[in-house]
Amino acid sequence: MAQARKPETPEARLQALMKALRAQGVTDPAVLAAIEKTPRDLFTPDLFKERSWEDSALPIACGQTISQPFIVGLMTQALTLEPRCRVLEIGTGSGYQTAILSRVSRLVYTIERYRTLMKEAEARFATLGLTNVITKFGDGWEGWPKQAPFDRILVTAAAQDEPETLLAQLKPQGVLVAPVGKGPVQSLRRYAGDGKGGFTVEVLCDVRFVPILDGVARE
Ligand code: SAH
Repeated sequence: MAQARKPETPEARLQALMKALRAQGVTDPAVLAAIEKTPRDLFTPDLFKERSWEDSALPIACGQTISQPFIVGLMTQALTLEPRCRVLEIGTGSGYQTAILSRVSRLVYTIERYRTLMKEAEARFATLGLTNVITKFGDGWEGWPKQAPFDRILVTAAAQDEPETLLAQLKPQGVLVAPVGKGPVQSLRRYAGDGKGGFTVEVLCDVRFVPILDGVARE
């Protein structure tokens, strides 16, 4: 039997990826459009450029990873963003998820504990002309009290415990999405504010994220 051939051009690879995302349940048109117009190969290291359109996480500098496109789509969709939203992201990494968020919200605040990654991500935002991203080098587990409260919060590294400090920086009817768990596999949770200081929590699926680490890194 003939094997399915790998699509040849970057555009064909992108379209194959978009099809795979839709098939897995990423259906929000704004989220799909944001992914479609964000060149993931700008965010992957040279060694893995060829694999930029695969639906898989890939290694980046500082021992971190760029998230899998499906997970980026799923998490962005789970945030139920509106164009007026101010969003806080913990774990800038390559900046890929940040770029997607910036296309579907008003302002994105993003925190990274590796200065090297932060600088590289900032250069990419400039290349793409994304002017609504505000970066910070620091420990994201503390959130960004001076800019709180946020309409939405997205955590892109695994939280070992309940993200209480971050939940306290969410608007009463805000939404926070985070992988929570101590092991290599965590559950992706969606916290939705009930407007009265409480939250309803929904478990979306199992995910594998690098852990949130304390403090800032030296690199
Ligand atoms: N969204 C990123 C995923 C990066 S992986 C992307 O698509 O590329 C998770 C990132 O979280 C790593 O860059 C890691 O350095 C960062 N991180 C881990 N703990 C952190 C903390 N306490 N504060 C800020 N960033 C943190």
